[in-house]
This record gives sequence, C-alpha cells and structure tokens, in this order.
Amino acid sequence: MKKLILIKYAELSTKKDNIGMFIKQLKRNLEEKLRKYHAVISFDKGRMFVSVENYFEECFQEVLHTFGIHEVEIAYELENNSLDCLENSLVSLIQKKEFHSFKIETIRSDKSYPMKSPEISKYFGGVVLRNKPGVQVDVHHPEVVIHIEIRREHAYLYLDTYKGIGGYPVGTLGKGMLMLSGGIDSPVAGYLAMKRGVKLEAIYFESPPHTSEEAKNKVLELARLLGKYATPIKVHIIHFTEIQEAIYKNIPKEYMITIMRRMMYRIAAIIAYNNRCKILVNGESIGQVASQTLTSMSVINEVVKLPVIRPVACFDKLEIIDLAKKIGTYETSILPYEDCCTIFVPDHPVINPVLEKCLEYEQIIPYQELIHEAIKNHEVVVPKEEKNTFEDYL
Ligand code: ATP
Ligand code: MG
Repeated sequence: MKKLILIKYAELSTKKDNIGMFIKQLKRNLEEKLRKYHAVISFDKGRMFVSVENYFEECFQEVLHTFGIHEVEIAYELENNSLDCLENSLVSLIQKKEFHSFKIETIRSDKSYPMKSPEISKYFGGVVLRNKPGVQVDVHHPEVVIHIEIRREHAYLYLDTYKGIGGYPVGTLGKGMLMLSGGIDSPVAGYLAMKRGVKLEAIYFESPPHTSEEAKNKVLELARLLGKYATPIKVHIIHFTEIQEAIYKNIPKEYMITIMRRMMYRIAAIIAYNNRCKILVNGESIGQVASQTLTSMSVINEVVKLPVIRPVACFDKLEIIDLAKKIGTYETSILPYEDCCTIFVPDHPVINPVLEKCLEYEQIIPYQELIHEAIKNHEVVVPKEEKNTFEDYL
C-alpha cells in the first residue's frame, strides 16, 4: 500500500474544449512547485497523483494551496484492484482509525470490473463491520466516509478528504500586471485574479527617499507570499520620485492624487504591454477613498486602453481584511511603512475630477520624458522562495 496525494479538479471539467490545456497547466504548476521535494506527478482520467518519498506533509500543504484543485485526498494506492488486496488494505487502514459510524462510497472508473459500485460498497461495508467491533453504518451522518476508487491498474482507498482552493490553474488565462502597493487590498486583488487562472507580474511605485527600503521589502514580501499560490511573481520596481515631485511642485493640490494615479496607470500599461500582460489588476474598491469614486476611476482609467480588473471593487473593507487574513498577507500588509500614495496627500483631494482640467494640468509637466526615464531605469526583482526545512535537499 503506497501513500500518496490524490487530486480532484472539478471546475476544470466545465471547460470541455480546453480541458487538456488546463490539466497540462495544472501539472506544470505542480511540477514547478514540488520539484524541490522530488515529487512525481502522474495523471489518469480525471485524477492527478503526487507521490513523494519524504516531506509528504509539506507537499500536501503546497497542493492544498494550488489553484485549479477542488479536493485533495491522502490516499493509499493498492498493488492491484483485486477484492483480496482491497480487503487486506482496508482492514489494516481501519485498525489505525478511531470511529463509531461510517459509510462507504465507491467510484468505479474501470467499467469492466466484475462488481458494480453499490455491490462493492455493500461488500466492504460487511468487511468493516466484521473487523471493527462496535461500529455502525450511518449513511446520513457518518463519522468517517471510506472511499474506494477502482481504476484499471490499481485501487485507491482514502478516508480523509480536504477542500482545495478551487479556481483555475494559474497561467491558463494569460498574464496580468498587478499594481501592488504595501496595503491590504492589492494583495487580495492579486490572489483573486490568480484564482481565475491569471498569471501575475507586479508593479510597485516607490519614491525614495520619501519611501523607505523597508516599504519596498514589504512589497517584495507580499509578492513572495502571493507567489506561494502559484509560481514566483516578478516585481517591476518603478522609481517614481521625479514624477511625484514634479506633480507636487506644479499641480494644484486637489488634483495631485488624480494626476499621480494617471501617471501610475500610464506606466503600468506600458510595462504590462512590454511583458505581454493583457490586463492591469489593482486593489481599488468603489468609494474607499477620493480617487476611487466612480468619476475618479473613470478619469484615471481614461489614460489606458487595456482592461483594468478590480477584483475587490465591490467588497467592504472588512471583507477584504477577512480574505487577507485567510490568504496570509494581512500581517505583512499592516506593517507601518509609508506608501508613495500616502506621502504628499492633500487635505481635500477632488472627488469629482474633471478630465479637461487633468489634461490642462498635465501639460505643465514634461510627463512623457519623465515616464520614459522611469521605465528605462526600472528594476526587476523576483522574490526568492523562503528558505525551507528541505534545504538539505537542494
Ligand atoms: P491597498 O489598496 O493595497 O490596501 P492602499 O489602500 O494604500 O493600498 P490605495 O490608495 O487604495 O492603496 O490605492 C489603490 C490601488 O492602487 C492599490 O490597491 C494598488 O493596486 C494601487 N497602488 C497604490 N499605490 C501603489 C504603489 N505604490 N505601487 C503600485 N500600486 C499601487
Ligand atoms: Mg485601498
């Protein structure tokens, strides 16, 4: 009996035409994530299997946190699918587990198998009752569900099932450029975009010396945390100081934020285009601040052609915070380092900016040149995976 991880990917089966491509991408993502454990990934009709000699638990956790997976099982692969083999393995498995009620669910993907699923369940129900005194069958609220899967080569047994994080495998829907600040919202927005299969690169605007090295490291740490759900995320760091200072010196106070965000969008769109990203993703949420009223968003959005996806647009802040905690970015997001958006903030930013005024004010600064310089000098960092207990494996 060999212990392995059995993967089910339900939502994928709704993508009938693209199923092959989706499965291949999921396999590729898992291979990349699990390479360091020397895991072997195989595939058989609607299932993926991960076998690994050591670090089973670490591997299991990584699989559990991979998009495109609906359910994960800790399963036992039997040498063959004979009744004898199943019986011996089942008896040894139930001895190790404390329970009082159970039911058996059988899936028979090998339709040539001599017994049908209900017969198999009934037969092994009898086996359990004979070998585990005191237990009862309970089909409605069993303490344990014993799963039997009969496949052509092998049979599989599993008791424990775990919910995966769902979504599509990252990379199946192309690439997006995440505008990643050190705040709470944008990492959550990134997570949700990845969940829909979008592979991310990130862009971060820094304004040294007004923003610190710690602020940048915080963003890199957020990118690293997000990367754990997929593959490492490349971060484009834009030196934004000259543009911000030009805005600060030349633009009427109430329009500073609007114009600053138009500059960010312009740069993000060019970096996205240069890196084959089809969308921008950001953490804007309707009504959260002056730059996120509907008028502000449309005046800011006006500078770019590519779609801007705002996964948390309709979430309450508390809902975003809950999700940030769940995905593990919250503790990093609340570290107290300043963002370039929070410096030079006027007391009363405009809530309903007028496009014509933006166009007029922007003529005052040589923004095309400044943008060109910022893009030319931008830095690219791929946050490393954390050093792990499996160091000795490398
Ligand atoms: P967050 O929204 O991530 O919690 P925040 O609230 O400080 O941070 P906002 O002022 O609400 O940021 O900005 C809205 C969105 O604009 C952010 O979610 C992020 O996508 C983008 N953004 C803001 N500042 C930056 C930055 N310095 N670099 C990259 N993107 C940024
Ligand atoms: Mg925000």
